Amino acid sequence: MWYTARETPKKKGGCAVAKHKLSQLPKMDRLLAREELAGCGLPYPLVRRAARQALEEARQGLLAGSRDRAPTEAEAAARTLALAQALSRPGLVRVINATGVPLHTNLGRSPLSPRAAQAVQEAAAGYCCLEYDLASGRRGSRTGRVEELLRTLTEAEGACVVNNNAAAVLLMLSVLTPGLGVAISRGELVEIGGAFRVPDIMARSGARLVEVGTTNKTRLSDYAAALDAGAAQALLKVHPSNFKVVGFTQAAELPQLGELARQKNVPLLCDLGSGALSTGRFPGEPTMEEAVHWADVVCFSGDKLLGGPQAGILLGRAAPMARLKSDPLVRALRPDKLTLAALEATLMDWRDGTLPPAAAMLGADGDALRQKAEELVARLDPLCPPGCVCQLAKSPGEAGGGSMPGISLPGWAAALTPAEELESFFRGWEIPVIGHIHKGRLLLDVRTLLPGDEDVIAAALSRWKGEGP
Ligand SMILES: *Cc1c(COP(=O)(O)O)cnc(C)c1O
Repeated sequence: MWYTARETPKKKGGCAVAKHKLSQLPKMDRLLAREELAGCGLPYPLVRRAARQALEEARQGLLAGSRDRAPTEAEAAARTLALAQALSRPGLVRVINATGVPLHTNLGRSPLSPRAAQAVQEAAAGYCCLEYDLASGRRGSRTGRVEELLRTLTEAEGACVVNNNAAAVLLMLSVLTPGLGVAISRGELVEIGGAFRVPDIMARSGARLVEVGTTNKTRLSDYAAALDAGAAQALLKVHPSNFKVVGFTQAAELPQLGELARQKNVPLLCDLGSGALSTGRFPGEPTMEEAVHWADVVCFSGDKLLGGPQAGILLGRAAPMARLKSDPLVRALRPDKLTLAALEATLMDWRDGTLPPAAAMLGADGDALRQKAEELVARLDPLCPPGCVCQLAKSPGEAGGGSMPGISLPGWAAALTPAEELESFFRGWEIPVIGHIHKGRLLLDVRTLLPGDEDVIAAALSRWKGEGP
């Protein structure tokens, strides 16, 4: 069978007592007909689901012996109502990122700039000229505007946008190297996260993986040997975004690989991962412009160092880009209007010299962060009830999102105790505040706070041990 049904193991020989108690569980239809549920104002399917869950809980409790009698109808109705209310709240809610990690994958990576958020709002709530050319009144190109901006910013000959960088890697390899041997350094056979591994994606694309060099050292001559032996007909460079090999290491850099690819007349592809524009703000990150100069096709994420929406961006020379763009896979991976609206606005920010929020956070000045943290401490300290302590503290930081591995982003935080109790209190607040515990204190790192976040944090703390929100 192509799927396995989930089986609930049945307890054999359930004792007669349990059976008797089970028969006393409230009946579904009577429960749902009760006034507190029928008149509660919540959608019927939600109440029905909650009632099923409440009865199942009670049944499991009786079977396991953790409950000694069936709930009365009134008790089951009260439990149903509580569950239905919990189910009715939205699940994807705004949180405050006080972790100090600007590209926190679990918290949605890049926050959008005001311009990008506004563009999304406008595209979302109404119609837009997604595939309509206003000059001619004819059908227009869906991704033409962002591609034009990308070409302007990077001087790439061609550009293409898909849903995320994982999709971009898949597209690049599937279209450009099926059946070819692709040489890649053993040090770059990485897992990017969520079971997305470079060797697997290469296998799926139909490319043949040709490993060269070793985990810690790969020389240009290793690539050259694979090409000369006829084992490989293309080169792939993958930016090892989320880890760093330190010590006795060597890697062939893009310029060297680019020279080699030109000499041997083979394509050089590059999964850049983060995609930093050359501003000098991101130490150690290869830039898009450099990658575009040396590689035939380069791909990277829209929501890492670029600071825009989730997207996969491909840039490169005219001929391979034209092949990519005419492939049917592009249609399957195409981004929606909200992504394109956000990406266009983000690229306009970069063009106009405005840093998107994540990029500004990553490059924030240490003294300014210290001052921001001092102000937060001064604001929180008077709100601390007895037993709670709030102090200024240094905070270890990182970029997150698989960007700038091995580069620490030391910052400043308000450090609170008791750590565990406050961590779960803040996490459970109406706008959850996510910090992290470090050496027995809850650190609220100010690097990632957005305007107004301090107000929420102060309001929350002032209610700790109080009546609650
Ligand atoms: C992050 C990353 C990816 C995946 O990008 P998504 O946009 O998250 O799909 C692929 N390759 C590298 C090198 C990365 O760093």
